[in-house]
Amino acid sequence: MNSLRSFNIMYLKGIGPSRAELLDKELGIKTFYDLLHHFPSHYVDRSVIYKVRDLNGDMPYVQLKGRFVSFNELGEGARTRLVALFTDGTATMEVVWFRRIKQISEAYKTGNEYILFGKPTLFNNTWNMVHPEVDLPTSATAAQGFRGVYPLTEKLRNKGIGSRTIFGWVQTLLATRGSDIRETLSAEVAEELRLMPLDQAIRTIHNPQDNASLQKARFRLKFEELFFLQLNMRRYSRKRNGVVQGFRFARVGSYFNNFYSNCLPFPLTGAQKRVIKEIRHDMGSGRQMNRLLQGDVGSGKTLVALLCMLIALDNNVQACLMAPTEILAAQHYETISGMASAVGVNVKLLTGSTRKKERDLIDEQLQDGSLHILIGTHAVIEDKVKFRNLGFVVIDEQHRFGVVQRARLWQKNVVPPHILVMTATPIPRTLAMTVYGDLDVSVIDELPPGRKPVHTVMRFENQRFSVYQSIGRQLKQGRQVYIVYPLISENEKLDLKSLEEGYESICEHFPSYKVAFVHGKMKPREKDYQMSLFASGEAHILVATTVIEVGVNVPNATTMVIENAERFGLSQLHQLRGRVGRGADQSYCVLMTKQKIARETRQRLEIMTSTTDGFLVAEADLKMRGPGDLEGTMQSGIAFDLHIANLATDGQIIQLAHDWSERILDEDPDLLLPKNQPLRNTLAFIVDRAIDFGRIS
Ligand code: ADP
Ligand code: MG
Repeated sequence: MNSLRSFNIMYLKGIGPSRAELLDKELGIKTFYDLLHHFPSHYVDRSVIYKVRDLNGDMPYVQLKGRFVSFNELGEGARTRLVALFTDGTATMEVVWFRRIKQISEAYKTGNEYILFGKPTLFNNTWNMVHPEVDLPTSATAAQGFRGVYPLTEKLRNKGIGSRTIFGWVQTLLATRGSDIRETLSAEVAEELRLMPLDQAIRTIHNPQDNASLQKARFRLKFEELFFLQLNMRRYSRKRNGVVQGFRFARVGSYFNNFYSNCLPFPLTGAQKRVIKEIRHDMGSGRQMNRLLQGDVGSGKTLVALLCMLIALDNNVQACLMAPTEILAAQHYETISGMASAVGVNVKLLTGSTRKKERDLIDEQLQDGSLHILIGTHAVIEDKVKFRNLGFVVIDEQHRFGVVQRARLWQKNVVPPHILVMTATPIPRTLAMTVYGDLDVSVIDELPPGRKPVHTVMRFENQRFSVYQSIGRQLKQGRQVYIVYPLISENEKLDLKSLEEGYESICEHFPSYKVAFVHGKMKPREKDYQMSLFASGEAHILVATTVIEVGVNVPNATTMVIENAERFGLSQLHQLRGRVGRGADQSYCVLMTKQKIARETRQRLEIMTSTTDGFLVAEADLKMRGPGDLEGTMQSGIAFDLHIANLATDGQIIQLAHDWSERILDEDPDLLLPKNQPLRNTLAFIVDRAIDFGRIS
């Protein structure tokens, strides 16, 4: 599709420079090729026409057929709007336009029959449709079959570019340049999988005549996306495994043995032992390790990390642990230096707020090799941080780190260090396959003994009093309590206000207890001070935002109240909940919501109340929200190029794409055979744009 990629979209009839700029900015559509790959997000069956009387709140986009009764211009200045009454004989509806009022009132006549297409909403007990598409029943776009609904932005709509506009452009493009669509797959793959040819698939996806052909087209296009993603990653990871040598940690020496025999605070769980064995095996193989360690909150990943770092030290290299926040880095530092100093390991903490003097000492010791383990935030990957011989890197709660940051770590030594990525967000296997390429995966699927599952309940605003009573009971027993507020970046001021009000009302309710208060906008020192008040037990209640989401460890805290729980994602709620249930006592998590919540919201929260298994929660989250929202997928850069495939639901196609990549590369690692020429050509474009996953992950 070479030529389609090289034509700027502004040259398409009806677009021009200013719209082209807008399309690029809003949708990333730059070329003819991009426009053809801007697929409808869903379809509306043109044969179905709804009645106004039958509308209900769950409907996305619908078609209605009827007449305008009147047009009235209301309001003034910026608030001017055109309101039309529309009826189809069953009931009336208001149709509202905020822009292009003059053109619209001239274009549409009362009495004529029109087909409206839009999203109905109920407002003041009247059905409303804002800026619908309006068609004569006879017009060409009111065709048979399905009609695609294209993803758009508010800005585009404001400029009068609707789904139908895009449809029109695509049709023009297909009519004039459709023959330039080149097949991207080899005949071997296409035939064996009975795939629809690419040009037909693209035509069909934009203008399907029936459901069967639409499904075939979707399958073809999804496969294509996932296949080239896999082919690219697999090709590089094969190369890397052949070429890139890693440290060979052949021995287990006195650091590890000493610690294991004399200092282990508790016997390892079976899962911890197994995972350490897997990591040891990797590190001894001579190939650079890239391993993902998954383990639910509280499963004991830190101890595993420490034991692996000790093995690294036994092989005369330095180790480093990177955490996403200062609080978490400090906590790791406490835990790890506390344990490791007993066997003579020198551990230091480096964050953005490390003082110059300490920092100089760290630099010096890093370079003369006397500093064994460096713990810190992303400050540790700054270029000026130089190790004498960095051999092992642990990245905790990896989803906060992007691919690029990982790549920087990778370059910190001539021989690339082994990398262990730890995460409490479980990722289904097929997703990991795509997001992390050839990252090997270890799983801690067992919690340390004696843990009681956190008892989780949902409570509504009108039950707040009784919630406060239970908090009071826990406090009386000497336990501590977290109260968590959502922070949503779009309106920080408002959020901060609700947080502050929450803080004040808690202080009022529990006057005899000390309340600490922390949020992300605080100076690190103030934050640390407040956190330490709570960690030491001096403060009984901690009112906080999600800054406490990861890693914070206060076993005496047995209750967590999450305000506006409906505003959090499931995985995030699960992370938060992981802050309680860390001691021997029964713990509680209360999900507070307002009185009225949507059915899906309730179902989502009920997953939290029905299980404490992080894998189940993550799977449900993935199904409900899609992987684009899954922390890690966006940053990983994978979601960037997927137009149609869905990492959450297309697991089988991912597997198929993976198997085919392997099969092809087994036979022809450099894709030099003539039959693979189309694959090579297509990859050339992809490699151009994509990050080189094979080296990074
Ligand atoms: P996470 O996997 O969430 O990072 P941590 O490493 O913070 O979990 O461990 C959670 C708690 O469990 C810590 O207090 C830790 O000391 C404790 N722990 C870890 N391993 C074991 C074990 N094998 N037996 C008992 N307690 C353990
Ligand atoms: Mg942890």
